[in-house]
Parts: sequence; structure tokens; C-alpha cells
Amino acid sequence: MIIVMKTGSGRNEIGRVTKRIEDFGLKTHISEGVDHTVIGVLGKVFTELRDALELLPGVEQVLLVSKPYKLASREFHPRDTIVEAKGVPIGGNEVVVMAGPCAIESEEQLLATAQAVKAAGATVLRGGAFKPRTSPYDFRGLGEAGLKILAAVGKENKMPVITEVMSPDQVDLVAKYADILQIGARNMQNFILLDEVGKTKKPVLLKRGLSSTIQEWLLAAEYILAQDNEQVILCERGIRTFETYTRNTLDISAIPIIEKVSHLPIIIDPSHATGKWYLVSPIALAAVAAGADGLLIEVHPNPDLALADGPQSLNFDSFRSLMSQLLPIAKARNRKLIIPSAKTNP
Ligand code: PEP
Ligand code: MN
Repeated sequence: MIIVMKTGSGRNEIGRVTKRIEDFGLKTHISEGVDHTVIGVLGKVFTELRDALELLPGVEQVLLVSKPYKLASREFHPRDTIVEAKGVPIGGNEVVVMAGPCAIESEEQLLATAQAVKAAGATVLRGGAFKPRTSPYDFRGLGEAGLKILAAVGKENKMPVITEVMSPDQVDLVAKYADILQIGARNMQNFILLDEVGKTKKPVLLKRGLSSTIQEWLLAAEYILAQDNEQVILCERGIRTFETYTRNTLDISAIPIIEKVSHLPIIIDPSHATGKWYLVSPIALAAVAAGADGLLIEVHPNPDLALADGPQSLNFDSFRSLMSQLLPIAKARNRKLIIPSAKTNP
């Protein structure tokens, strides 16, 4: 249930409404919009409460929210959420590009990649240290040594860093080094992990599960938001379908759907969505055209030698070329994209 307050209603009126809700043993969530303040009610709603609230001064409308997710919904929070990672806003006017290798292999590899992607316009550095691999015999990441490299290279290049955390007992360790905690597709419904990253209050990038519906994805986001962590970024990375040509099938319609039903930023990972490097650029361009707030892209100095996800990784040249092609698309959507090396920026 949400309560829409009248324009100009003051602190006293809002206070009376929240008190009445709390007297019923329920929690409230206040969102101040340009014209109206909206008060969301969390928990099981009673008809008596609805009737009581409708009579209070300052209340314009009491509406029932039929969706099972509340804090993640546009109704509860009409204004876009802008997540901030060390000064980089995600979900605002700028298209944010996060780039780097699938897995951190060495300091040289990560440093070279960070310098190349930054010069091309990426503002967040990605790199996996704990890797979820389908086969246990594949390279599973450098662990804490990788996190140390990531934090050092990020600092040196003044880029916030994002990396995956795979289990609840790793959260404190990964949060020590990362600016954004990534929840991988395979862990989207690891609810204890979602609680734990929620408690850190750090930005969290939540990937959509391999076979999850948009509603299940938003309910997973709700777990993080319910811990009072509003810094959630959604990431569509392709879902399982009958098609085998691509690694996954990118659900491009998720972009405008999320924009309609949620206030959370949505970014696209064209690397895992396609599994093939030559499909990454066209899909990335389509995602920004469809309104994505950003991209998460795998880049490697020498994809042929990569220890993880080489076939879907861009080399530096292809990444630079993608970034310059993105400029007019971002401009057409009235979004900003800053490429340090480009002569003209929108
Ligand atoms: C990754 O970003 O390297 C990764 C493992 O992604 P996903 O969880 O989407 O498979
Ligand atoms: Mn990968």
C-alpha cells in the first residue's frame, strides 16, 4: 500500500500518517517527489488501516500495490535512484561503462586493461577474483591476491572497482577491497548472500539469474533494499532459451520494463549475454539505444590467452571502436558519455 500526500503537506501530517501505520506494527518508507511525498507501507496491510489513513489530514490517496516487490517499485519510489560509486553516478544522465577482464590474472594484465579502458571512456574497472566456473577444473580466480591487485590498480587509475562476491562468508573480505559488490547470475537467489550485501550499505550490482523472471529478479533486489541498502544496480546478462548460437539470449525488453516498473538503474552485460566478442558491440549499442544506464564489458589485452571468457572478451582496439560508436547513440537518447580521447563530446 502507498499513501500519496497532498502537495504541500508538511512534516506534522506526514508524521501522523507514519505513526498510525507504525501503530499497526508495520514499517514505512518515505519517498519525497517533486510534487508529492509518497509513504510506502511494508508488511501485511489491513482494510481498517486503509480506511483510517484515508481520513487523515494531508492524505490525497491510498493505493494498494499489487506487485510483490515494494521498495524496488516505481510506485514506492517515483524518482530514479542514482547509485554512487566513489563519485561515479550510475542511473543519472550519464551512460556508465564498466570494463575490464573477466578474471584478474596479474597486475600487468589488469593495469594495462585499466589504462586502455579508461582512456576509451570507461569509468568503472571490473575484474573477477572469485570466479563461479561451470567446471571445477577451470581457473577460479586469484582470490584475495586478486582483490589486492584490483584495489591497487583502481586507486592508481582513480577508478571505482567492481568484483563478484560468491558467498556470505566472503562479504566482509570482498567489501574491504571493492567499491561495488557484484552478485553473479548463479547467486541471484542466494538469499542469505543478498541479506549480507544489503548490510554492507555498499553499491551492489545484481545480475539477473540464468532462468529468472523479471519479477523474481526484482524480489531479489527487494532483499537488498529491505536491509536499508538503496544502492542497487540491476544487470541484465542474458537468459537461457532454446537458442544455442549465443551463450544466452539478451532480453532487451527488460530495459524499458525495468524503467517502467522500478526506479533502480539497469545496465547490460553484452559479454555474457552473447558469449562471442563480435556480437558484443552491436548488442551494447542496442542496449544504450533501448535506454540502458550503462554497460558491463569484458576486455582483455590478449583475449586468445585469457584464462576466463576469452571468446567473449574485446581487445583494446575493439573496445575503443565500440566506445566511439556509442557516442551518437548516447546523444540520441539525451545521455552523456565522456570519452577522454574524443575531440567532440555531446
Ligand atoms: C562475470 O561477470 O564474470 C560473471 C561470471 O557473470 P554472470 O554471473 O553473469 O555469469
Ligand atoms: Mn566472465
